[in-house]
Amino acid sequence: MMTIDKFNFAGKKAIVRVDFNVPLNEEGKITDDTRIRGALPTLKKVLADGGALIIMSHMGKPKGKVNAKYSLSQIVDAVSAALGVAVKFAPDCAKAADAAAALNPGEVLLLENLRFYGEEEGKPVGIDKEDPAYDEAKKAMKASQKEFAKTLASYADCYVMDAFGTAHRKHASTAVIADYFDADHKMLGYLMEKEVLAVDNVLKDIKRPFTAIMGGSKVSTKIGIIENLMDKVDNLILCGGMAFTFAKAKGGKIGNSLVEDDKLQLALEIIEKAKAKGVNLVLGCDCVAADKFANDANTQVCEDTNIPDGWMGLDAGPKTQEEFKAAIKGAKTILWNGPAGVFEMDNFAAGSKAIADAIAEATAEGAFSLIGGGDSVACINKFGMADKVSYISTGGGALLEAIEGKILPGIAAIRGDK
Ligand code: AMP
Repeated sequence: MMTIDKFNFAGKKAIVRVDFNVPLNEEGKITDDTRIRGALPTLKKVLADGGALIIMSHMGKPKGKVNAKYSLSQIVDAVSAALGVAVKFAPDCAKAADAAAALNPGEVLLLENLRFYGEEEGKPVGIDKEDPAYDEAKKAMKASQKEFAKTLASYADCYVMDAFGTAHRKHASTAVIADYFDADHKMLGYLMEKEVLAVDNVLKDIKRPFTAIMGGSKVSTKIGIIENLMDKVDNLILCGGMAFTFAKAKGGKIGNSLVEDDKLQLALEIIEKAKAKGVNLVLGCDCVAADKFANDANTQVCEDTNIPDGWMGLDAGPKTQEEFKAAIKGAKTILWNGPAGVFEMDNFAAGSKAIADAIAEATAEGAFSLIGGGDSVACINKFGMADKVSYISTGGGALLEAIEGKILPGIAAIRGDK
């Protein structure tokens, strides 16, 4: 497999798929440029070698229609400043052949939002899924998706995939395009390489003990991951809202706490599976209960199987926090996805903070810690502890699918994994 380090971009045009789906405020100004910064090592390598860059990305969900709100023209200045090069802009990503052909080494062209074309996602535009004509339209769209990918590929000599956030999607620019380059002219970018390595560290090259912490609101959205991890971990902490589905399944009283009543049997099966596999399952034993879903609610600590009517568990209790710490201390591999409570409210952030502190301590003692999937990243940032863990993934859904053990199309398209 070609790697970006081995490839010499001198005199070549590289088309690079990045994730520049950055949040914008109402004036169209970027409020968080993490994703732009994440792509810089790859983009700068192409330029430093003496190559020309064609950058492509999606932004938001314009669903196959041109929509000024999602125009990448809004980020041209920011990308220019980040690269130190005046970036040119192609206002139609499918009609950029001339602009691409005119690029000289060291020059950069940013294509307009790929998702202004339904072909990017390969979904028919303006036709309902229930419509009898939908299947035919989808077939036709798959064919035009290939044409669209071929057009994008025609702009460049080589293709670099560096958008981990969309690597779980088989889109024109993330996967289909790779078919139009031979194995020596397509590669993963540095960000993708880092993400793949981080996932391999926790799924393949496991240093033990391995502790995984799964939190958040629902067990139903994490079940695939929990099952995949069950074969790999030594300690599994299940916390946050989902803990109350377990507490209820065990016959406890959970008041108004979050619960998925159709997952009670599943919760019992998970408990049994952990026993059978010798996994230390940490479900917690106490919680901070509140009389309303608000930061200024009255609170009390109670057993999480004995919550008074009208009260709801919104955070892990002090004994549970000790259980978390014990399961994290001394771990050599740690994965954290999902908070242990409603961390957005300061009065219910202590459980998540206890986890973050324990992870930071274990990391300082040599553990590899991977934090990923939306809210746990927001959580670690809220505590200002991003530099105290080994790796924070940029991928939400992509990371979760990778941890579930699924092959990501954006990676398979380059590596040829089946
Ligand atoms: P998820 O998107 O499933 O990872 O869930 C993240 C959300 O779960 C966060 O917004 C938390 O506020 C929320 N959460 C965590 N613990 C609880 C809880 N005990 N009750 C209600 N929501 C919770």
